[in-house]
Amino acid sequence: MIDDLLQKLRSGELPPDEYVEKTYEKLERIENRVHAFITIRNKEEVLNEVKKKVKEKGKLSGILIAIKDNISTKGIRTTCASKMLEDYIPPYNATVIERLEREGAVIIGKTNMDEFAMGSTTETSYFGPTRNPWDLERTPGGSSGGSGAALAAGIVDIALGSDTGGSIRAPAAYTATFGLKPSYGTVSRYGLVAYANSLEQIGPMAKNAEDLWLLYSIIAGDDFRDATTISYTPPPSPANVELKDIKIGVLSDIMEASDKSVSSVVKTALDKLSSYGVQIEETKLGYTEYALPAYYIIAMSEASSNLARYDGVRYGFNSYFQGDWKQTYSLNREYGFGIEVKRRILLGSFILSAGYYEQYYIKALKIRNLIKTSLDSLLKKYTVLASPTMPILPPKLGEVIEDPVKMYAMDLNTVLANLAGIPALSMPVGFYNNLPVGLQLMGPYLSDDLLVGIAIKAEKILGYYNLTASL
Ligand code: GLN
Repeated sequence: MIDDLLQKLRSGELPPDEYVEKTYEKLERIENRVHAFITIRNKEEVLNEVKKKVKEKGKLSGILIAIKDNISTKGIRTTCASKMLEDYIPPYNATVIERLEREGAVIIGKTNMDEFAMGSTTETSYFGPTRNPWDLERTPGGSSGGSGAALAAGIVDIALGSDTGGSIRAPAAYTATFGLKPSYGTVSRYGLVAYANSLEQIGPMAKNAEDLWLLYSIIAGDDFRDATTISYTPPPSPANVELKDIKIGVLSDIMEASDKSVSSVVKTALDKLSSYGVQIEETKLGYTEYALPAYYIIAMSEASSNLARYDGVRYGFNSYFQGDWKQTYSLNREYGFGIEVKRRILLGSFILSAGYYEQYYIKALKIRNLIKTSLDSLLKKYTVLASPTMPILPPKLGEVIEDPVKMYAMDLNTVLANLAGIPALSMPVGFYNNLPVGLQLMGPYLSDDLLVGIAIKAEKILGYYNLTASL
């Protein structure tokens, strides 16, 4: 727990040298097997910062944190796991970074991810895949796979991810850690390299629900630099709910669409919660077969517009081809982007073209609305809705990446919350054949404190928290 760590650092029981030394020793021992990071900061620099910060009275004074590499960090390379931004050093900090630094957090490095956050396995990274600390043959999920792996491997206790359609929750589920996709508009996206603005949020990742809240409460809040943030101050603590007052609606259509391996573990966990007085009932969402197509149409459309800025002229990969601007521009983009990113730019541009716009984009928006309405009405009946976070166990590296449709199918359970803008949390609830399984809880808009409050109760009952894979 961060509180204990903070206490040890403050009291001198854990001197900064020892804390930093141990962390870097571990990195040295395992990073070449796991590959959680794209950039690791210089040890001396980090140590000096920790030494300085420990003396301050912030909520994270001297605590090391790992940051997903699509979040802008002043003076620290921010690549988005793309050749396009391989050498890009942002001249400014994202708002979330400013907030973390104000509380004394020290960035240890930038974590690996799918290129421009497009993917579910961290395999589309230009820098090569991250491996799952629980089984090195397998993916840690994505796109914030490096952050999940850094937590599970015991390098850091807190990390930031971003979630457009599940990118925080997938790695949380696959690495037996906790992740929250916040309510849309509660966390500033200023300084997050945009993929699909209407869907995504930066969010916290941690090894227990308490630390998840601590991190969320620091990064959340309105920001004049992001007009989509709402006027919001996170409550002082997560909701304290009585177990008997929690009514969980289990989404049967999502349970059925998920593999037995994961749904059985989730069911066992829910049964256990029920034996402690939580009310559990089955319910149905509907429209689930349209969720993925709607999500991908919207995400790709927004991506095609967002990624138009990368022309290699002002910054980014430059082929230095001396031709007319069209050829130069095309070559920069042809060599700067990977295959998955190009696929999405092409499809997104097609979807938004005259004639197809109504056929695809407008229809997708209508489906988005139907799903949102259905979720909202269920959330009037139930405190939260539950399902497995991922429909399958962590796949082996190479297993889904060759077939994009297979990879997209992994996001069925997670895209719902992004389409609706509601908060969703993933927490570890057990293992199947030694592979982690995550439970997803979705709550009404702005119920982030309630989701975390329930997770705090549930983790104590189920016992899966503060887990580290042995490597
Ligand atoms: N896997 C989904 C996608 O590729 C979600 C990614 C994300 O949340 N950034 O779009």
